[in-house]
Amino acid sequence: MRVWVNGELGRDQVSVIDHGITVGDGVFETIKIVRGAPFALTRHLDRLAFSARGLGLPEPDDAAVRRGVAEILDGAAWELGRLRITYTGGPGPLGSDRGPDGPTTILLAGEQKPFPDTGAIAVVPWPRNERGPLSGLKTISYADNVIALARAKAQGAGEAIFGNLAGNLCEGTGSNIFLVKDGRVITPPLSSGCLAGVTRALVTEWMDVDESDVPLQALYEADEVFLTSTTRDVQPVSLVDGREIAVGPVTRKAREIFLSRAAEHVDP
Ligand code: PLP
Repeated sequence: MRVWVNGELGRDQVSVIDHGITVGDGVFETIKIVRGAPFALTRHLDRLAFSARGLGLPEPDDAAVRRGVAEILDGAAWELGRLRITYTGGPGPLGSDRGPDGPTTILLAGEQKPFPDTGAIAVVPWPRNERGPLSGLKTISYADNVIALARAKAQGAGEAIFGNLAGNLCEGTGSNIFLVKDGRVITPPLSSGCLAGVTRALVTEWMDVDESDVPLQALYEADEVFLTSTTRDVQPVSLVDGREIAVGPVTRKAREIFLSRAAEHVDP
């Protein structure tokens, strides 16, 4: 794993009182590296800035982060890799007030194996709070996702799916969700509390997709279901809470379109 902290390549150290550690005050991005180059970097940096603004952090210095990305990827020969950008409130007191030193920026990069394709999802009983202050922000407070994913895995699934407070479908712990019903492709709108996934955005730009609220129950009545994320691309779902669902032509088409167009889209 290569490391870059606050402008220094190879510096594998952050303060133990960094607010990212003590209070989960920070935001992040996971970016796919394809043959050494970042995929959709501008979209990820825009979302990082959006999430930072949402937490009231100063916006990351775009040029400095891009320089960091170039440095950490210099000579990276991986066919497939992953770059993580973490941007925290920085060192501060042991409370919720931020300290005077300003944010910490951490880049991590390494090789990645292709994502294991289990195709099984399990709905968890805890709702996403689409009305909360963190809704739609990619913060480093992922403990609810850790618990949900562990529960799904205990049931033999590879991803956990959340509804929201309104009882509508929302997203996975690290993915967005799409349904196909009577030929219509539907994904929950951002107001459902889901993350504005970069893969979700590309699929909705490249295909005819309705961004509509659907009750969580619609998941069990769908003709096809698929997930999208940086690590999964377009991943067909074949089991929903243990019930089989066909991997159909619309999902296959979405995957085909994504993989062929993504090749032209390494950056931005
Ligand atoms: N939803 C959540 C909660 C996520 O953590 C992620 C990705 O990490 C996604 C959706 C998918 O977003 P993207 O396509 O940008 O990877």
